Amino acid sequence: MDKYIESVIEAVKAKDPEEKVFHQAVTEVLETLEPAIKKFSKYKENAILERIVEPERVILFRVPWVDDKGEVHVNRGYRVQFNSAIGPYKGGLRFHPTVNLGVLKFLGFEQIFKNSLTGLPMGGGKGGSDFDPKGKSDSEVRNFCHSFMLELNKHIGQFIDVPAGDIGVGAREIGNLYGMYRKVTNKHGTCVLTGKGPTYGGSLIRPEATGYGTVYFAKEMLKTIDEDMKGKVVTISGAGNVAQFAAEKCIDLGAKVITMSDSDGNIFDPDGIDREKLAWIMELKNVRRGRIKEYAEEFDVEFNPKSSPWGRKCDIALPCATQNEVDKKEAQALVDNGAIAVCEGANMPLTPAAIEIIQEAKVLYAPGKAANAGGVSVSGLEMAQNSMRYFWSREEVDQKLHQIMVNIHQTAYNTAKMFGEPGNYMLGANVAGFLKVADAMISQSYLM
Ligand code: NDP
Repeated sequence: MDKYIESVIEAVKAKDPEEKVFHQAVTEVLETLEPAIKKFSKYKENAILERIVEPERVILFRVPWVDDKGEVHVNRGYRVQFNSAIGPYKGGLRFHPTVNLGVLKFLGFEQIFKNSLTGLPMGGGKGGSDFDPKGKSDSEVRNFCHSFMLELNKHIGQFIDVPAGDIGVGAREIGNLYGMYRKVTNKHGTCVLTGKGPTYGGSLIRPEATGYGTVYFAKEMLKTIDEDMKGKVVTISGAGNVAQFAAEKCIDLGAKVITMSDSDGNIFDPDGIDREKLAWIMELKNVRRGRIKEYAEEFDVEFNPKSSPWGRKCDIALPCATQNEVDKKEAQALVDNGAIAVCEGANMPLTPAAIEIIQEAKVLYAPGKAANAGGVSVSGLEMAQNSMRYFWSREEVDQKLHQIMVNIHQTAYNTAKMFGEPGNYMLGANVAGFLKVADAMISQSYLM
């Protein structure tokens, strides 16, 4: 590895030794930037790598809230405002017990390059809390969201930072957060959050956007090898927002989805999850907030506790749950079972060792920052619609989303080719995302 790049990675590790997933994300991105750093000396001369790995600002705060028994609990809230060179910070909020600063720095770092790839003016950020919404009542979740926004409102705004959802933050949470924002600030219509409900400023297709976008990206990759989604067998992990709409788009395009999962295990439906069964899953997860194993009982199929779906024979794998869910063993199983494409709906679901196995086997591989950029893209379109005081139809938004995903694919594909590694979408996406942000930082002086 180039000595300059290596020294930056080592410095990141030495500074915050416990932030392992952040180190992983930084290493993965910086390693692939080598050809660009060698080709253009300006990035080293302007210390771009040293600057880009350091967040512009981190906000850490106390979130006290009261449960249904009247007991007070305290969680920790965060917002990592990572890079605003090309636009206001933009990125989701994650509520999950595993959240800590290292996780949010990894997600915020990835978001910089993802948002750059969309072609829209959005910087990178991420936030959230170690609060676990699982098993909490609606009123407990509401109390938590209200307390979280009582602090967060001071740090966000349409020209500053525009959060959205992520794991554990969906329509219910965004509604509660937005309600408190309005109560405190007496402002409406300024796009301070995206993923809002359609009755109060949300864009149509935003809930669908990440999952749909992932499948649009997979479709573009398949085109390069004269293949199509139709008739393909697809394994999906997760049963949340991204997984649900990835499954829906696969079904629309004539593919057969045979697995979905949650943190308890996965269901295997050899006949395929059809539209009716998927509607049942959406009701289970979004309304009843139940567990995926209930699907196995309802439709009399296999439930595999505490295991992943990656051992199943499939053509296409869409990991849509969480980081590092596909390691060496699972990647090897995908290769052995003849998968032709792995497209990341989640953020960093493949470990570095898994990526190596997939790439060496010449299986098409799309990194999350390209493949799951549809969500933030439609968030960008929500900001645009709110600014115009106007709404586009479902068809208009979906058509724009589709075009953005085609453009991201083309950009990553062409950039990989230009830097001598055709088909390496990881390199293409990282380099293309980086160049725009780095050039914006140089233009705005060393203070950026
Ligand atoms: P949701 O909370 O809606 O769903 C997450 C799903 O993944 C659930 O089924 C959950 O199961 C499962 N899951 C979460 N953590 C784990 C774990 N440690 N082990 C096994 N399963 C787990 O989140 P989203 O669908 O919104 O997000 C999924 C992924 O997509 C994340 O990586 C997120 O960062 C990424 N992403 C999301 C975007 C969006 O627009 N929502 C945009 C871009 C990326 P359980 O309920 O049991 O926890």
